[in-house]
Amino acid sequence: MSFLSGDQARAIRAEFGTPVYVYDQRTLEASAREVLAFPSAFGLTARYAMKALPTAAIIRVLYETGLHIDASSGFEAERALRAGVAPDRIQITAQELPKDLKDLVERGVLFNACSLRQLEAYGQLFPGREVSVRINPGLGAGHNNRTNTSGPSSSFGIWHEKLDQVLALQREFDLRLTRMHAHIGSGGDPEVWKKCARLTLEAAARLPDVTRLNLGGGFKVARLPGEASANLREIGEALLPDFEAFAAQHGRELHLEIEPGTYLVANAGVVLADVIDVVDSGAEGYAFIKTDTGMTEILRPTLYGAQHPIEVVPADGDERHGEGDYLVVGHCCESGDSLTPQPGDPEGLRPRRLCQPEPGDIVVIGGAGAYCSALAGKNYNSFPEAPEVLVRRDGTAVLIRQRQSLDQMLINERTS
Ligand SMILES: *Cc1c(COP(=O)(O)O)cnc(C)c1O
Repeated sequence: MSFLSGDQARAIRAEFGTPVYVYDQRTLEASAREVLAFPSAFGLTARYAMKALPTAAIIRVLYETGLHIDASSGFEAERALRAGVAPDRIQITAQELPKDLKDLVERGVLFNACSLRQLEAYGQLFPGREVSVRINPGLGAGHNNRTNTSGPSSSFGIWHEKLDQVLALQREFDLRLTRMHAHIGSGGDPEVWKKCARLTLEAAARLPDVTRLNLGGGFKVARLPGEASANLREIGEALLPDFEAFAAQHGRELHLEIEPGTYLVANAGVVLADVIDVVDSGAEGYAFIKTDTGMTEILRPTLYGAQHPIEVVPADGDERHGEGDYLVVGHCCESGDSLTPQPGDPEGLRPRRLCQPEPGDIVVIGGAGAYCSALAGKNYNSFPEAPEVLVRRDGTAVLIRQRQSLDQMLINERTS
């Protein structure tokens, strides 16, 4: 299930303590190679949607494979710059217009306008310049409503029926709309993804200067056995005829961009935690494994009913026999702090068959690279932010983010 052996998990715990995020450079690089091999008719640029896991060392590993960056805020763009990414390899696609947009664009960062108001603001700052627009093609795909970022229920992007207003702003500010973008949601059905891609092409036909089409991310990743990951090769190949037909009809050979987050990092990360207690609620109830992690490191189960693989690694390294059905919970005083919800239903409980644990054993929670460290219930119950460790290509584990101290947690507080 995970890239770590039991011995490696025990060694990393001994060196860095728990809870700790552990990432694997080989897995990161292997998924980057797959993304960079996405089939395209007229060339490909692939971006890493860094909001999935924005730690500098991870950005660097992926940047060095040849990926560019998708930043979801001005702060994120700045963070990528500080990690050493060249400005022209960063594009901002944000719900909130960065307050320092002028400065970022002057330094060379690219901008993707996500609403008519954003396009107008950009036009006022940079008349006559090139820009990208994000559209909402009218249909979305996500593993649930909270991860769907297109269609009528989503506020992301310019609604596809408003392209006339886009063209009006283009004329008003003499903008060159050379790039168009659509990101339809995370982890949904590949068939819907392709359908949305085709709708996006239809919209691109109406913006005559567009020569670069960004179809976003959202490729599904299998975290649990029995789930299927999106097949990038199959999806890319299915779209080749559409790009060729577009070129024949409109005389434009569209350069393709994609920008996955999840697909690049989800299975390249785990959380190691301690079993801190084992309790039960009687014959009619449940058995619970309490861990020193939970929503402070992995909020996705609480937020979406997301499913992560969980494994108990005995502390002593011996094979332990005997299994049981357990609910795995976090360390917060919050009944929603559960790592074993029903799939897609954070309210529900779904016990897992696990090796019988004892306090002091290790729990390995897999599929924890994307939207875990990045999207945590940070400092709730005053637990410090967990450290992050990267297992390098040669197998050595290096610290890439230290554990937060109590002083760091309190540094901005004032009492007088
Ligand atoms: C979040 C996001 C992505 C990445 O989505 P994944 O589901 O993690 O692949 C790509 N593009 C934009 C604009 C996003 O907001």
